[in-house]
Formats: sequence, structure tokens, C-alpha cells
Amino acid sequence: MTSALDRIKAVVGERGVIADPGEMTPYMLDERREWPAGKALAVVRPGSVEEVSQVVAICNETRTAIVPQGGNTGLVGGSTPHTKGDEIVLSLKRMNRVRDLDPLNYTITCDAGVILADVQKAAAEADRLFPLSLGGEGTAVIGGNVSTNAGGTGVLRYGNARELVLGIEVVLPDGRIWDGLSRLRKDNTGYDLKHLFIGAEGTLGIVTGVVLKLFPKPRDIQTAFLAVRDPSAALELLALARAATDDRVTAFEWIPRLGLDYVLKNIPDTRHPLPDNPYDHYVLIELTSAHDDGVLRERLEAVLAEGMEKGLVLDGAIAASRAQGRAFWKLRETIPEAQKPEGSSIRHDVSVPVSKVPEFLNKADAVVKKAVPGIRVCSFGHLGDGNVHYNLTQPIGADSAAYAARHEEINHLVYEVALALRGSISAEHGIGRQKRELLPEVKSPVALAMMRQIKKTLDPNNIMNPGKLL
Ligand SMILES: Cc1cc2nc3c(=O)[nH]c(=O)nc-3n(C[C@H](O)[C@H](O)[C@H](O)COP(=O)(O)OP(=O)(O)OC[C@H]3O[C@@H](n4cnc5c(N)ncnc54)[C@H](O)[C@@H]3O)c2cc1C
Repeated sequence: MTSALDRIKAVVGERGVIADPGEMTPYMLDERREWPAGKALAVVRPGSVEEVSQVVAICNETRTAIVPQGGNTGLVGGSTPHTKGDEIVLSLKRMNRVRDLDPLNYTITCDAGVILADVQKAAAEADRLFPLSLGGEGTAVIGGNVSTNAGGTGVLRYGNARELVLGIEVVLPDGRIWDGLSRLRKDNTGYDLKHLFIGAEGTLGIVTGVVLKLFPKPRDIQTAFLAVRDPSAALELLALARAATDDRVTAFEWIPRLGLDYVLKNIPDTRHPLPDNPYDHYVLIELTSAHDDGVLRERLEAVLAEGMEKGLVLDGAIAASRAQGRAFWKLRETIPEAQKPEGSSIRHDVSVPVSKVPEFLNKADAVVKKAVPGIRVCSFGHLGDGNVHYNLTQPIGADSAAYAARHEEINHLVYEVALALRGSISAEHGIGRQKRELLPEVKSPVALAMMRQIKKTLDPNNIMNPGKLL
């Protein structure tokens, strides 16, 4: 009898299958490397939606599990196979065509394997903006971004990936193709099925194409690095800035003194924008406008003046050029890298309602400091979205392995604080394998039962990314 793999080869051709263990290695380990290298029957690289459909149909018939993979930058162990070796990895990377760009409809239609930076570039070339932007954008692909409902630095103004998708094309677990590539802004014809697949982490089907919203391209970008009194003052400042600038705040990022200290010490070519006085709390604020008429800068200056008058802002620097703006961003974006030389870190990707961030920080700081005297709290990130990366560096001189071994205990302490404020244990990165065991603890039984029912209905043979998410 012909094996599943031979039948798949007949569909995608020799160049569409990698079966050599050495060549498969990059597909077996993910960004975080927290899980052992996976094993797979093969990495399958289809070149069209029809090929994906036929491959999935074969897998469904033969009960061969599929791990969908995009850029493999996910941080929760969702995009790589388990160690048994009986799954296939289905890589979307060969499907990398921009299918259509409609400037008047403000949409772009892409294959799932288009690299996020290339989507941004195509939009920019048409004098448009695709606003999804995040650290891994040179490697992550749009199908992966959509499957993880990625957020990033523009959520405050433009929303998560979910808000940016108008239409979607999916190969269902039985091989059928659902062409949901709608370019409509309005369509009230029953359940909005695309949302089932956005953020599903490859457990309900393979996303093969997407229609994305575009926006006017910014002509003016103003970035400021500000010292603020405390987290509450930062939030008051954000509210003030939103109102005073017609809601043109695109990013509002939190940088604590410890994070900045790590960056200045461990990352080359960085300098403190406010070197004279070390403050405890900083924010990076960015405003954008489609008009380059100087108004944005005037408004930003007015916001800072008012913030200072009210005692919210202690000091600040507005970038004099795009290069300086990028230098400010470097201080924010390199915090995770700068933490590494400081020893073990226990990380959390939590969110709470924006107004509750100060309370979260106070309470979480108190419980973790009580549990581990000397622990170094380095919380940073998307304050404007209520999403802080609550990272905890080991005490100076502590045993790294012993500290890291306490991660579950510390995770629970932090999650308890976030959940009591009706927050989430995964704001951006999803569930994957990393938080799968926690899901029943944090989802209501009703929500969990609905999720399981949807999974069973669409994927009764459980071939789509088993052991991830649910
Ligand atoms: C340096 C860095 C910075 C980051 N910063 C942010 C940030 O600020 N905000 C944020 O939200 N995220 C951030 N992330 C996480 C990022 O959102 C995800 O890594 C990215 O969106 C995943 O895209 P990918 O193509 O690499 O997907 P993969 O890692 O390949 O896959 C991710 C998940 O989606 C599934 N999947 C992939 N493609 C498909 C498909 N076509 N159909 C169905 N399922 C699929 C996989 O099975 C897996 O479960 C960051 C990651 C890195 C490495």
C-alpha cells in the first residue's frame, strides 16, 4: 500500500518535501528552545492552496497529524512537532505571493506565507500603511501572525491582527477549501467565521490566504522619551495625549529604570536620553499623522507642557530626527536581550484593563518580592494596551537553576494577581504547549466546553496541531 508520505510527494513533488533529518532541523526547534527538538515524518512545503487541500485530505484519511508552521517565531511551542515522529510539519513559506493590492479599498490580499515585513513594504510602495509591527517581523509570516492574533507596537491605534483582517481563506481539516476572502467593510450575514481561525494556533485548519486592512501612510512621526512620576501618572498622561491629539497616539510603551539600566549596560550603541537625572519610570510615546504640517509636534509639545504642569511628567526628550526616534525605540525593544546576561528570568505575558495596570504592578511586585527576596522586577511593554511583559530577573548572586526551577510557583503568584483584576495570562503569545495545562484553570468551564465542541466539530479526527492549545 502507498504510504501517506508517498501520496503527499505525488501532490507536492520532490521539492515540496523535506525528509532528511539534517535539513529538517530548523523546523523542529522554535525560537525559545524550551522544548526538546521535535521529530517529524517530513516537512511538507506546498506551493498552492489546492496542494494544501490535497495534503490535508490525505492526512485526514490516514489520521496523520499536521503541525502548521509559518516563520517559526512563536514563543509558546505551538509551531514545532512533538518528539514521537509521526506528524508532518506543513510549512506555508513557499506560498509567499501578494495576490492583490487595492489602494481605493485600502486592502491587501496575501498568501499566508508572505513575511510580515514584506506585507508592510508592499503597502508602503502603494502609499499605504499596514500597521502590524513586532520584533520578529523580518521572519514571521502573515499566516502565523493571524493564527496567533499577534499584537505588537501599534495595537493602541490599530488593534491586534484580529482587527486587521477582513477576509480569510482556510483549508479545513477534511481538506475542503473555505474561500472567505471577503474585502467588505460591512457584511452582516450570520456568524463571522473568520474569527474562529484567527488566534486558533493551527488547531482548526490551515490559513492559506488573508485580506488585510490598510491605512493612510504616516507622513509625520513624533517620538518622545519621557520620565514619568509613576504608572498612574503615565496613564493620566496617555489619556491626556489621546484627547489632545485627536487620538493619534500609536504607541505608549513602558520602560522601568531597571530595564533601561540593563540595556545601557548590555547593549552596544545605546545612550540615556535623559542622562542627568536617573528616574524610576519612563515611557516611550509615538504619535503619527498622515499630514506633515508640523501640527503633531506642536500638540506633543503642548501635551508635555501640560503633563509637566500637572506633575505627571518629570523630564523628557522629543526626538529631533527619525534616527533619534529609532534610538529611543532601541532602548525599549532590546530589553529582553539585555536581560539575558543578568541571569535567569521568569517571564509573564499578562494583560489587565489599562486602568488597572498600576494596581497590578503594585500587587504583583509585593507578592513576588515576598516570595523571593532580592528578585529584580523588570516589567516593560505595551502599557497603552494594558499588556506588560512582567519579567523577573533572579536575585544578584542567586543560583540560576534553583531560581528557574521556581517558575511555576512564581507564575501562579503573578497570574493570580492578573486574574483577580479580570486579566489574561496570555496577552500576545498564545497558549501553544507552554500554557496548555493552565487553560482549564483560567477559562470558565462554559467557555472551555464551547472551545472543545468547536474543535470536535471541525476536526473530529484531531489531526490539526494536537496537544497544542486545548
Ligand atoms: C523577537 C520577537 C518579538 C515579538 N514581539 C511580539 C509582540 O510585540 N507582539 C506580539 O503579539 N507578538 C510578538 N511576538 C510573537 C509573534 O507574534 C509570533 O511569533 C508571530 O506572530 C508568529 O508568526 P510565525 O509566522 O512565526 O508563526 P509560527 O511561529 O510558525 O506559528 C505560530 C502558531 O501559529 C500556527 N500557524 C502558523 N501558520 C499557520 C497557518 N498558516 N495556518 C494555521 N496555523 C498556523 C502554528 O501552528 C503555531 O501554533 C514576537 C516574537 C519574536 C520572536
